[in-house]
Amino acid sequence: MHHRRKFIKQSLAGSALLLTGSVDATGLRLAPQEKPLILSTWNHGIPANETAIQTLRAGGSILDAVEQGVKTTELDMDNLTVGLQGLPDREGITTLDASIMKGNGECGSVAFLRQIKHPISVARKVMEETPHVMLAGEGARQFAIAQGFPLEKEELSPKAKAAYEEWKQKSQYKPIINIENHDTIGMIGIDAEGKMAGSCTTSGLAYKMHGRVGDSPIIGAGLFVDDEVGAATATGLGETIIRICGSFLIVELMRQGRSPQEACEEAVRRLVAKSKNAKDIQAGFLAINKDGEMGAFAVQPGFNFAKGSLQSNKLIDSPSHF
Ligand code: ASP
Repeated sequence: MHHRRKFIKQSLAGSALLLTGSVDATGLRLAPQEKPLILSTWNHGIPANETAIQTLRAGGSILDAVEQGVKTTELDMDNLTVGLQGLPDREGITTLDASIMKGNGECGSVAFLRQIKHPISVARKVMEETPHVMLAGEGARQFAIAQGFPLEKEELSPKAKAAYEEWKQKSQYKPIINIENHDTIGMIGIDAEGKMAGSCTTSGLAYKMHGRVGDSPIIGAGLFVDDEVGAATATGLGETIIRICGSFLIVELMRQGRSPQEACEEAVRRLVAKSKNAKDIQAGFLAINKDGEMGAFAVQPGFNFAKGSLQSNKLIDSPSHF
């Protein structure tokens, strides 16, 4: 990695690449300097970014944009790891985790939430309407109801039901996220004035233990935003991301002068070093700094993300450790 970074630095020196935002060998734009800029994990980031950009165009704030953007994914019936249509836990119950954060440090999250279609909006309500940061389980559900969120019937989507029935044949408990089974949406954005916000929402690890909570609702793990520095979000095996405080780590590395790309690479390096089975797991990070530069890095190949601006919205393959 070090070599690749050195190569990029050398090839950029004295060239116009930084200014034009040209694509490097991995397809990752190095320094687009485009604001507003929205980054979202995985290919479902494309429709999510579209909603986010439309929200900005309609005069919404960057916070509105990252909330509305991921709500699109929370409703996507093809998505098996975000929203109520996501794969259930071992008991056959789908439980949701979500977090939202503004660059001024305000944040809110919900964990282990049932029967609510838009956990991201409940997380925003926690941030705006309570003195707390996080509500979990039954308390989060009661709060959502009190805030006027409709309670959905507790039943699996046809796709999730079929997958769960198949899993039950063997009921093998493999709490692993590899390159096939992931999809949390993490979205980070910066507006034209440099204000930042982020959101992260998921049904978590498929067939998890009842009560398991991943990185996505943990501020600093699945999401962290600081207007003074930048923003980061994560996807993949939550336990490995929580252990290194992944998103907080990336923002702090950027505070110390690393580029978003260097910071994402260092976080993955640390995650790999702390994981016994790094070869079998997937985790990936996205970052932007306050200048609108971006970074992406994953443990395994296969991680991609959507980069949206007022001009374009496209899928980019992330470089990876292995
Ligand atoms: N990060 C999520 C979790 O561990 C899962 C994912 O990204 O698919 O709950």
